[in-house]
Amino acid sequence: MPKALFAPQALLPDGWAEQVLIETDARGMITRVTRGAEAPAGAEHCHGPVLPGMPNLHSHAFQRAMAGLAEVALNPEDSFWTWRDLMYRLVGRLTPDQVQAIARYLYIDMLKGGYTAVAEFHYLHHDQNGRPYADPSEMSQRVLAAAEGTGIAITLLPVMYAHGGFGGKDPSDGQRRFIHTTDQYLKLQEKLAAFCAKPGRRLGFCFHSLRAVTLDEIKAVMASTDDDRPVHVHIAEQQKEVEDCLAWSRRRPIQWLYDNVDVDDRWCLIHATHAEPDEVAAIVKSRAIAGICPTTEANLGDGLFPAVSFVDQGGRLGIGSDSHVSLSVVEELRWLEYGQRLKHERRNRLHGPNTKHVAGYLYRAALDGGAQALGQKMGAIAPGHRTDLVVLDGQHPLLAHVGGDDILGRWLFAGLNRMVKDVMVGGQWVVQDGRHADEIEAGRAFAAAVKAAI
Ligand code: ZN
Repeated sequence: MPKALFAPQALLPDGWAEQVLIETDARGMITRVTRGAEAPAGAEHCHGPVLPGMPNLHSHAFQRAMAGLAEVALNPEDSFWTWRDLMYRLVGRLTPDQVQAIARYLYIDMLKGGYTAVAEFHYLHHDQNGRPYADPSEMSQRVLAAAEGTGIAITLLPVMYAHGGFGGKDPSDGQRRFIHTTDQYLKLQEKLAAFCAKPGRRLGFCFHSLRAVTLDEIKAVMASTDDDRPVHVHIAEQQKEVEDCLAWSRRRPIQWLYDNVDVDDRWCLIHATHAEPDEVAAIVKSRAIAGICPTTEANLGDGLFPAVSFVDQGGRLGIGSDSHVSLSVVEELRWLEYGQRLKHERRNRLHGPNTKHVAGYLYRAALDGGAQALGQKMGAIAPGHRTDLVVLDGQHPLLAHVGGDDILGRWLFAGLNRMVKDVMVGGQWVVQDGRHADEIEAGRAFAAAVKAAI
């Protein structure tokens, strides 16, 4: 059904506007936006400031099952690598039913936190023994079904994972559920292409990391199609990864990638934490997205991406919730900025040439970067974009007497998830008055799945 939505204030591509009429078609795409409009009879009224919904550019859905359970100091050298051992133990047990139940509740929480689309970096493909399921796309189908049931849009990124270390090392036993040959991977992509050719879905390529694939494998995958599907990779998250890459190739990971592969605006470099100035400049020049996951990077003790220098040079970025210790647009954007404040011992670090307003810059940058990384027409209240909207609580006292980017400042630096009142994806309300219709039942199924799995 076509819709007419009326917003008292809305964030449009060229700035905030008042009395905005947003019209959509039956497929949930925006057809017309009119500012200073009268509300026509039958229009649905939004009771608060309306923003484009935020893309979440990095998710490993199953990791939500262990979020908050790895915060125990068992080893003085606790790091990403000791956390990864715990994560592999969980991975060894999960069934398709459990993965679907975990992803379903996760996606509901994402919607409630202001995310309207997710890029699922999906590497748990095979059964507990490392054998493909009867349908090798079984686990991917479960993730797609979870997304569809909750209403969140998805870019599915089936992961190519072939090796356990730089230079084509054999994978470890803990990685047996992830592994594909190039042929198996391309068959999986071919099969999933048909399932992803519908509204609210997109398919992309994904390399787990430079530890997990060889250059020949990257080239074979990239040469398999000439369409413009997005390409994601974990890169330079950890110092040890940088040291191992140097020992193997005498290049740092980002250097190696740019020396060997034609990286362009289809690419999203997840983390890119340990980037030297020449690497930062290369990412900016390529127009690739830096996929920053501030709460996970903090949780895992990864380090801080050089965001000030990157943004000053015009770099493009987006945010992801990755291991899902937080499902909040507020926390990711706030900690993206706060990390830089703590590092530089200064305030107001991240802003653009056209706006000195930090929250205004961060929200817009993550919308644009996220939409590019997911390869979907979203992230703007404008004709031709999907109607993905977040309505903030216009009755909240902190929002009552502010306008323009101060709305974003209040929400992102002094607010919480509960300021998100209503959420729409593709023209359908999926969260109303802070609630998703399936949240209680999905929460019970999540708890049962986690109890059985850990
Ligand atoms: Zn990740």
